Amino acid sequence: MNYRSFGQTGKDVSVISFGGMRFPEPQDMEQSADLVLYAHSRGINYFDTAPVYCADRSEDIFGHALSQQPRDSYLLSTKCGRAKGQDLRQSLERSLRRLQTDHIDFFYIWHLMSRDDWEQRKQGGAVEAALKAKEEGLIGHLLCSSHMPGESLAEVLAEGFFEGVLLGYNAINFPYRQQAVTQAEELNLGVVTMNPLAGGLIPQNPQRFAFLKRDSHESIIQAALRFNLSHSAITSALVGFSEKSQVDEAIAAVDSVSPQSEESRQQLSVNIEKTFDQLCTGCGYCLPCPVDIPIPQFMDVYNQVLLSHNESGVASNRFRRHWGLTADQAAVCTGCSLCEQRCTQHLPIMKRLAELAG
Ligand code: SF4
Ligand code: SF4
Repeated sequence: MNYRSFGQTGKDVSVISFGGMRFPEPQDMEQSADLVLYAHSRGINYFDTAPVYCADRSEDIFGHALSQQPRDSYLLSTKCGRAKGQDLRQSLERSLRRLQTDHIDFFYIWHLMSRDDWEQRKQGGAVEAALKAKEEGLIGHLLCSSHMPGESLAEVLAEGFFEGVLLGYNAINFPYRQQAVTQAEELNLGVVTMNPLAGGLIPQNPQRFAFLKRDSHESIIQAALRFNLSHSAITSALVGFSEKSQVDEAIAAVDSVSPQSEESRQQLSVNIEKTFDQLCTGCGYCLPCPVDIPIPQFMDVYNQVLLSHNESGVASNRFRRHWGLTADQAAVCTGCSLCEQRCTQHLPIMKRLAELAG
């Protein structure tokens, strides 16, 4: 297993981290703990959870498993999405009990949706409460997680509250997030990527993503993880494991990973645009919209619809992932066509918005 420095925290983190949102039988504590301990035995030292994952069992599972190991052999992260300071404090104390520990190494202000949301977290006291907990030693490092566009998230990071960031980053959406990754690198923050397999869409469409593969022996999962970790700014890729073979496969994928040049990243971006001529690349050139429709986010939803061959439920899941995005917002489009005139992919944005509005 390779390890990378997590920004300026002084911590070394395994390049593959364990996301605790996919335990297949979360009610079976021993079986779930066995999977965690297997990953730990293979050198994974970063374990990520949150209060509601796996029917609210994930934190208990990690606590049960990892309390059997020396505390300095693993790093724990959990999260809180509440805006009020007292709610964050309660949530943190409950997480500490469940995780059977006296401190959380990496604590996230969870799921920042927009600049307004970020302002509300500050005004509600959540950030202040987290910083106080850090002073008390209950939190090692404060971070944020977000599905915001890269540009907005970069502005939040520049305010200097956080030592790291967790964001979705994969072969479909990376142009949409790149600015935040670049900002994090400039500030020397830790960067953890979630959803490296695009919610399963990359392995489900191996032919379309074949250009990610280094050679015919490489699996599409290996290629997708290598895509993430060849970026020098990215500290660790979070994978939601369900079985031991997935742990082995992920570790094998990154054993021989090497840095990717900016030139080859740009070439990949060109390949993606060519390969997915019907997909939104998240470039943002269609903005601004006169009625403030977050067009790239809606087109990201539509990407999932196309790649999933319109499998029912996929689009609504994507709405949930971009918290705060509703079908009603898509319905306010006035049809001015400014966005379509600017779109680098020449996408029928208005028609897609109408479909998503239902
Ligand atoms: S066509 Fe609709 S989405 Fe596009 S810029 Fe005009 S109002 Fe916004
Ligand atoms: S310009 Fe086109 S491809 Fe770029 S974000 Fe907007 S809709 Fe997507």
